[in-house]
Amino acid sequence: MPGKLIIISGPSGAGKGSILTELINKDGYSFSVSMTTRAPRLGEVDGVNYYFVSQEEFDKTIHEDGFLEYVHKFERSYGTPKKQILEKIASGTNIILDIEMEGALNVKRLYPDAILLFVLPPNLKILHERLLGRGSESVEQIKNREKDIQKEIAEIVNYDYYVVNDEINAAVERVERIVSGEGEEYRIIDPQAIIDKYKEE
Ligand code: 5GP
Repeated sequence: MPGKLIIISGPSGAGKGSILTELINKDGYSFSVSMTTRAPRLGEVDGVNYYFVSQEEFDKTIHEDGFLEYVHKFERSYGTPKKQILEKIASGTNIILDIEMEGALNVKRLYPDAILLFVLPPNLKILHERLLGRGSESVEQIKNREKDIQKEIAEIVNYDYYVVNDEINAAVERVERIVSGEGEEYRIIDPQAIIDKYKEE
């Protein structure tokens, strides 16, 4: 049986990263390493988190038709290399893409069976605490991010399923159930109700 293509998106602080890490350590799951022209952050490893490339190399890959999708965002380019994805799917491995909405929709157009999954924090207060706890951004930067949060959550209208990351093991289990086709209770039927739940009081 071919593997499944799973796209995971979500606002920063939702805990997407920890879900990805847990899943990738499981048999049958693999992470799609994107190419980017942005510089590595502290701790990021070339070939693991991203392939960090020059704009020239990125453009060359575009011309060689090497991307499944790519976007230019935040003044940087990001793209999903095509070859690794097709090979993994053919070998029966589920492949996880950590990409933003525009890319997710482009992939969905090419592969209607792709599962578009949105990760949410339990509530905005917890999101705020998680962002503060990371210690990697100033309070000012966090405030700016939080301004965008409503906009980001509104993107849920384009996704198939949502997972609330209240507790990591439970969240990973929900993702696995969705992937195996047994997670219909997590299907997004009424996106507006979810959006309303995350409105500031
Ligand atoms: P960051 O620079 O923080 O690692 O990523 C910024 C945004 O780009 C995130 O929303 C991430 O999911 C998205 N992203 C990373 N790689 C790709 C990619 O290959 N394609 C698309 N469309 N988005 C990506």
